[in-house]
Amino acid sequence: MTQNLVPVLGEVNAFLQKQHGLLIDGKSASTRAGKRIDVRNPATGEVISTVADADAQDVDDVVQASHRAFTSGVWSKARPADRERMLLKLADVLEAHAEELAQLETLNQGKSIHISRAIEVGAAIEYVRYMAGWATKITGETMDVSIPVPEGARYTAYTRREPVGVVAGIVPWNFPLMIAIWKLIPALAAGCTIVLKPSTETPLTALRLGELVLEAGIPAGVVNVLTGRGSVAGQALASHPLVSKISFTGSTEIGKTVGHAAVDNMTRFSLELGGKNPMIIFGDVPVEKAIQGAMMGGFLNQGQVCAAASRLYIHRSKFEQVVEGLAAAADSMTVGAGMDVTAQINPLVSARQQQSVCKYIDIGRQEGATVVAGGYAPDMPGYFVRPTVMINVDHSKTLVREEVFGPVLVAMPFDTPEEAIRLANDTPYGLAASVWTNDLSAVMHVVPEIQAGTVWVNSHIPLDPNMPFGGHKQSGVGREFGRGAVENFTELKSVCIAY
Ligand code: NAD
Repeated sequence: MTQNLVPVLGEVNAFLQKQHGLLIDGKSASTRAGKRIDVRNPATGEVISTVADADAQDVDDVVQASHRAFTSGVWSKARPADRERMLLKLADVLEAHAEELAQLETLNQGKSIHISRAIEVGAAIEYVRYMAGWATKITGETMDVSIPVPEGARYTAYTRREPVGVVAGIVPWNFPLMIAIWKLIPALAAGCTIVLKPSTETPLTALRLGELVLEAGIPAGVVNVLTGRGSVAGQALASHPLVSKISFTGSTEIGKTVGHAAVDNMTRFSLELGGKNPMIIFGDVPVEKAIQGAMMGGFLNQGQVCAAASRLYIHRSKFEQVVEGLAAAADSMTVGAGMDVTAQINPLVSARQQQSVCKYIDIGRQEGATVVAGGYAPDMPGYFVRPTVMINVDHSKTLVREEVFGPVLVAMPFDTPEEAIRLANDTPYGLAASVWTNDLSAVMHVVPEIQAGTVWVNSHIPLDPNMPFGGHKQSGVGREFGRGAVENFTELKSVCIAY
């Protein structure tokens, strides 16, 4: 273990010590029962803060506040240019607090401070600026219509997009701030109000975000933050009749529960769910490039990335070389806290996730796989798992079928592009995939055949706010990012005028 820790900012320590309530109507509010949830630092297992544990009645308070804010028109009827300006102001405010947010995230989630700075905060701020611009670019269409009655009547028609209402933004623990922002900003650009529900494990940056939203001048009540357990607060939020749209990111299992709850009220919903994403490496790819790609795609954020490359299909001509190099690279990675600037592998988010990942590794062994790197939790405080590479995995087995959501790669050889396509698609999931080759014909042949919402060529994981993101099959319903992200928070109204 290495020890080059970033000094914790005074404002971060002060925030950790606060008695966090729910953010309702711009104020921190206690819950009725006063129950608390411990928040831990995954690098040590120590409790670093506590947050309010909301029950169904508290959820009702939060949703009612959001509904009042929506119907007041303070945001939904604000000039689009004013919404855009305030969202751009929010980006500036976030930038002014970037290091504070990055440290909070690393202390709570466990990820490298470099990733917190660059992605969780840096990329998220770019997303805010991109999405702010859509507030002033929401459009409908005009249509010629041919309605034949009464005889001689003339009509014209147009559509308008109106904010859908109160949004529930339900967020997972792997990129807590960034994914909260993925939901918050398009919802606000469209004129909605939102209840943000962070994960039980990682509630801190959402609470801080709620404060910074107010600092940016966005009216109180437009953004409320609800902390609590998924099975209680999350469920009550997803089932609340005053919620008009649920934007959920999380596991496929919980996504289905949320989808069922939504349909009961005809609440609109989009689901960004799990993945078991293939990386297909053709024989022309230099070994070193393949190794670097697999390390980045598979071990970023300890593999706790919905789009992580977790199934490697390597052309048989390069299989042994790539696996050997990958195993050596994985074994050389230094393990340490996310606040340690030299650590290359950081803790998983929780003891539960550490146990779950270790269990998957054991199942893999029992099902006949061979561990060529890692394969265990080092004996030290915190929720670490060594980066793991496994081979000799039968395609029908658990490690190939199920999302591990940890630093565990399974590598398998293939001989022909057809075989690679068949194996890549032989999964219940369909979030993302990558194809590695400079053979243009192979790329043009393989890409259309892959059943996934995103296919990268010669890279894995880069996302851009202008590029739709979402899943096929069990990986979800709907797309985030781009124009569609904002339109997802609107209702389409047809207006027909007789003249
Ligand atoms: P999770 O499904 O356990 O929880 C997600 C959120 O749902 C949390 O806020 C949780 O508190 C809440 N929740 C739990 N039970 C609920 C219920 N009954 N009703 C309503 N809300 C409930 O997911 P997680 O473990 O936090 O995150 C990991 C999962 O998220 C992985 O499967 C990963 O692939 C997925 N994910 C997907 C994407 C994507 O964009 N497709 C991005 C990141 C993570």
